[in-house]
Parts: sequence; structure tokens; C-alpha cells
Amino acid sequence: MLILGNKGIFPETKRTAVLDRAVEIIEPEGDVLVPLYHDGQVPLYPVCDVGKTVYRGSVLAVSADGEHGVMSPVSGVFLGQKTVLHPLCGDLVCAGIGVNKNLPDAPSEKFDRLHVGPAQIISIAKGAGIIDEFDGTPLYQKLYAFMESKTRLIIGNAIDDIPYCSSAVKTVCEWGSEVAAGLELCLRATGATRGAIYVFDGGGKSMRRIKDKYSIIDVVRVNGVYPVMPAIEKRLIRKYSFGSVGVQALRALFLAVTEGQPQRTMIVTVAGNGFERPCNCEVAIGTPVSALLKNCGLKDDVPYIILGNAMNGACCEDPYELEVPVYQEMRSVIALKKRRVSASKSRCIGCGRCVEACPAGIMPMYISRYAEQGRFENIPALRPEKCIGCAVCTAVCPAGRELYSLISLINDGQRENIDLYDWGDEE
Ligand code: SF4
Ligand code: SF4
Repeated sequence: MLILGNKGIFPETKRTAVLDRAVEIIEPEGDVLVPLYHDGQVPLYPVCDVGKTVYRGSVLAVSADGEHGVMSPVSGVFLGQKTVLHPLCGDLVCAGIGVNKNLPDAPSEKFDRLHVGPAQIISIAKGAGIIDEFDGTPLYQKLYAFMESKTRLIIGNAIDDIPYCSSAVKTVCEWGSEVAAGLELCLRATGATRGAIYVFDGGGKSMRRIKDKYSIIDVVRVNGVYPVMPAIEKRLIRKYSFGSVGVQALRALFLAVTEGQPQRTMIVTVAGNGFERPCNCEVAIGTPVSALLKNCGLKDDVPYIILGNAMNGACCEDPYELEVPVYQEMRSVIALKKRRVSASKSRCIGCGRCVEACPAGIMPMYISRYAEQGRFENIPALRPEKCIGCAVCTAVCPAGRELYSLISLINDGQRENIDLYDWGDEE
């Protein structure tokens, strides 16, 4: 096992109990909102009329130039287009579908996995609408980029180093062979010569189910401080040009090739002391978050429901926000009875912990201070764009300052949303 990282934090291990439980399948029912989501930049338009039948696996929406599309993850009746304000990603255009489980799937084309060619693999990844769950990039775009940059090593990313989340590791536990086969397809598509699945090994009996090797794909077990990925990158970059793909996207590629399926489900960790039955769930993309909460027994009066992860996810404050859909970048939903609450206006005590812990090597204390003083001209030299969004600075700050949120506002060009703060005579 590789123990990695010297910057960051050791978050409490809260994932093994959930990891060791079976994956529960949540069947879609009622109305779902399927994100018409490609890369967040190219708008997609529904291809059918309101009231018409759509079949699982049929084309639901395409871009204006016909180049990009989304396939329906469920069968049912198209109810129309709707934009929802998603706590994790802002405005999300969706197609409403009234689910009908009695309808058949659309016909699909299956391929011979061992003989499908490189261009065909990329084309299948594009047609299946596969999105990397770790960074939201369409898989076919990644494969093109790996091919053009002559990437030698592709790693399957199962780095669940965030408290509670175990959806990536669980995917390898349950479907390791499929993940590895998806990675082999990526190697063939891009010309990369080596593949390895990097798994965060936080303990638990489920880890024993993961093999050391699947066919030609090695499994590398890692542990260390959160976030581990920068340390992995630092280590690999000395030897290889490399890229990473989330293990859920790899499994989706395997299913797209062998079964002709679009990416239609996500494994989502539903965890925290606010649930009676926390577990990993397999759920159709577009299913409302409220269905996961119901399945896992959300307790009464749980004040903190966090979409995304416990470090930098979005805390829902309105019941309406729980009706938003699961989409391809949502790997966990956390419910907590208690949470450390940050006070955005508390004063920095100059301890330097945020600087010591920041894995990007930047100085959150000064960036936040200049921003709150309105001295934005001083900020570019501090390189806030190097921030990787890990929220370690917020977690370690003894004054409870919301450093990560503030730096995100700067990087998103939202200076106007930063509250100025009177720092008095301090410099
Ligand atoms: S400044 Fe960014 S990279 Fe550094 S600890 Fe904070 S969130 Fe992480
Ligand atoms: S950790 Fe908080 S209190 Fe300490 S220097 Fe950073 S911002 Fe200031």
C-alpha cells in the first residue's frame, strides 16, 4: 500500500460500515428529471413532443449541430423541458419523464469487446453520453486528449479519500472486472500502454474482495492525507505522461460496448448519522434526491443534508432542493445531525494553518483578507487559480473562516458577492 501526501488533513474515517453493506438498487418511479447535460457548455434540445413515449436508451435530446446527444435512462412519457436550480451546479436544464416500467428498452447495438477499434470506442463513449464522475468531463473528450498527448498511463480513479464517500471503491468491489475491461478499452482507444486502478484503501472487509490484478490491469492501493490525488499526480508525473478516468465512467464504457447501453445509472453513497440505513445505492440518472433519502430512512429533523461530499458539497436549506435530480457528478449525499458551522465573519488569528495544509501551495489567509478588504489588485500574484477546491483550508481554520467558498467566488469571477469586512488597523 502506498501512503501518500504531506499536505492536507486526515479526515475521520466514516466510510467502512457503508462500504461493507450491499449496493441497493433504487428503481425509478413517478416523475424523473433527466439532466440534458453534455459538458455544461453545449446546450441540448429535446427531440420529442410533450406527451410522447420515450424508451430507455433512445435519444432524448441533441445539440443544434446534431453532434452531441443524451439518451434516456428510463422509459416513460416525455413531460417537457424544465430548468432546475441545482445546489451543486446551478441552473440545470432537464427533461421531465413520467416513468413507465412496463415499456421496453429501445433496440441497442452490441459490439465485440475484444475486436472493437479505437475510433469506434471513442464514438461509442460519445454516443453513450458517458461523463467522468470526478470532473464532469465527457469521456470521449478525455480519450481524444489522451490520444493526442500520447498519454502512456491511464489510471482508473477510485480515490474515495473524502469522509463518508465510498461509491468509487464500492464500484471496484462489485464490478472490478468490468471497470478493468473499460480501462482496457481506453488503452486501446488512445494507444496508452499501461493501465492501473488506484483504490483508496481505508480498511473494511470489502477491500479484501478487490483483486491485485484484473487481466492486464494492476490495482494500486493507496492511503494518506486528504486530498490524495495531488500526491499521486506528483509521484506519477516524474515517470509517465498519465491521465485518469473515474471508475464509474470506465464501467459505463464497458456496458456501452458490450450491452449497447447509454450511461444510465450512478452509484451514490448515502451516508451520515442522519440515516437509519446508510448504504451505496444504484440509481437512475434523473431520480430525485428525495428518493435516496426515503430509501435510506432519513431520520426526523436532520438539519444538515449535503449534496456532493462532506468537504465541499452543497448544504440544502430548502426542501425544494431535495427534489433536484441525481446527475453524473453526484457521488454522495450526506445527512448529519451536527456539523461544524463556519462563521464567515470571524477574524483570522494568523495561525498559518491554512497555508501549511493547502495542497496547492497557495496562501488562503492572504487571499481572503485582500478580498474582504476590497484590495483585489493584490490577489492575482497569490495565484488563486491554482486552488483545487479541496476545502482543506476551511476545515483546518480554527477561526471557522469560509476560505474555500471565498476563493471559489474569486475564481468564478463573482467579486460582487464577497462581503467586505473591516479589518481595522490590522495589516
Ligand atoms: S485554497 Fe484551495 S487548494 Fe488550498 S486548501 Fe483551500 S480549497 Fe484546497
Ligand atoms: S487557518 Fe484561519 S485563522 Fe489561521 S491563518 Fe488561516 S485564515 Fe487565519
